[in-house]
Amino acid sequence: MATITSVLEGKDTLTIMPTGGGKSLCYQIPALYSEGVVIVISPLISLMKDQVTGLKEHGIKACFLNSSQSASEKESVKSDIKSGHVNLVYVSPEGILSPGIYRFLQNFNISLIAIDEAHCVSQWGHEFRADYIRLGELKTIFPNVTMLALTATADEKTRGDISLQLGLNSPTIFVDSFDRPNIKYQILERADEIKQLDQFIKANHSGECGIVYCLSRKKVERVAEKLCQLGHNAVCYHAGLSTEVRERSQDLFNTEEDLIVVATIAFGMGIDRPDVRFVAHLDLPKSIEGYYQETGRAGRDGRPSNAWMVYGLQDVVKLSQMLETTQAIESYKKVARAKLDSMLCLCESVSCRRIFLLSYFGQKLDQDCGNCDSCLVPADTCDATEDAQKILSAIYRTNQIYGAGYIIDVLRGSKNAKVLERGHDQLSVFGIGKSRSKTYLGSILRQLLNQGFIRVKNWEYRNFCLTEKSKDLLSGAQKLEVRVQRVESKKSTKKTKSTRHIDTAHDNDDLFEELRSIRLELAKKASIPPYIIFSDKSLRDMCLLLPRDKTEFLMVNGVGQNKCDRYAESFLPKISEYL
Ligand code: ZN
Repeated sequence: MATITSVLEGKDTLTIMPTGGGKSLCYQIPALYSEGVVIVISPLISLMKDQVTGLKEHGIKACFLNSSQSASEKESVKSDIKSGHVNLVYVSPEGILSPGIYRFLQNFNISLIAIDEAHCVSQWGHEFRADYIRLGELKTIFPNVTMLALTATADEKTRGDISLQLGLNSPTIFVDSFDRPNIKYQILERADEIKQLDQFIKANHSGECGIVYCLSRKKVERVAEKLCQLGHNAVCYHAGLSTEVRERSQDLFNTEEDLIVVATIAFGMGIDRPDVRFVAHLDLPKSIEGYYQETGRAGRDGRPSNAWMVYGLQDVVKLSQMLETTQAIESYKKVARAKLDSMLCLCESVSCRRIFLLSYFGQKLDQDCGNCDSCLVPADTCDATEDAQKILSAIYRTNQIYGAGYIIDVLRGSKNAKVLERGHDQLSVFGIGKSRSKTYLGSILRQLLNQGFIRVKNWEYRNFCLTEKSKDLLSGAQKLEVRVQRVESKKSTKKTKSTRHIDTAHDNDDLFEELRSIRLELAKKASIPPYIIFSDKSLRDMCLLLPRDKTEFLMVNGVGQNKCDRYAESFLPKISEYL
């Protein structure tokens, strides 16, 4: 492996490797093949003991030093190191910086310092830890020792920062492939989440093992209870439960075939069960890093697995509120807001989910993956070019120095003090987006950013400016397609007529049942839940409008060009039979 060669040659190295990619081999093999001792810095004190036991079985002489040990235990470890019986020492971040430990270690030939979970050193990382920031001092304490920084998730900005914070000496950077082709990604809008989850599990994962993540402890308990009532074998896991209960859940997880663990993100560190068949999220994760790490726990054995999520805009409100009420420093909040935005952008994107995820981690995929919901059932899209042009103009007219909130205020014609003070109510763009909701405009802004039509000018202020690509959109040479959100589609004028009558359409019950069974068949074939193909509302609308051809089919609520192309042929014959 390239990383191992690089550290054996004595080069500082930064390696980005997904969970389950064999990160630990990067320092275990050098520990076997080089003279001297390898120091591994890891924040996971609770796992050190297991790791050391595991290594000893493989003939690596390992030990650990951390705050959980008594003075006499530490002394005994130290004498082992002195006698030369140790290749590898695990130390916690605060441990390595305590003079008692580093002065002792300075007496030995240290061949390598490996820093695990290195993203914790960066404020740009999603798990910044105060005890990591001081690891920058290591280069002064051990000036001639090769350093290896390891992380499972780091976007480009974080990578640069890791290297800077740790003082790495022009490091060689390796990015291992992040792709997990056996995982199918699906992200849906939330309707009735328990029902959606129940249907998803029953249709795809009967008798199989999975993890369901929720944001709060309360919700974890509620969901586990509901799943049990619906006949699933579910237990819960969160940090507020007693050690006994948590250990029991963990044990069951390791032994029972069909167990579903409903958990907060506290569940996961050190999980290596290979046959977790699905990971479901009932709440939006705070960052793509988190999402990818959690979904990565599915299908370690390489067999087909599902990463399934429902989200709603209320998640965004909740997460934003949580963020704003924390005591965290402003710079941290800014990063956290940007991470949440990227996560949302993934949900709202109409393109292949895998391409989006991989490009977030700096990797390119040449073609659509064919194994995500966007590829399997292309989203209904609408042309948002005009709204996008309005946003670009507003950014330009306000001199490219403001953030999303302000731009949207100007577009919607808000007469707040700042807008009036700056005279922006006099601009031609003032109020031209009045008919659009804040949420909708925010979503278009995220897509513009994601697709490079605008960029962040200054991260401090998160303000936007135009790019080379903006011109193409402004001139109409390029279009911006966005996912039709349920909230917005109600407002679409084209469909108002059919929605108005929808609730009274219960006349054609026979036809409705027939259309439902067509839908079910299609769903089974594509192994997706039926409501992804069409909602009941769409089917009711078909019964009401009785479309005869594709043009009329397009008038049905919830049918866009994609769905029309894909499904019209399956439904139209049945409807014409009825006619
Ligand atoms: Zn795809």
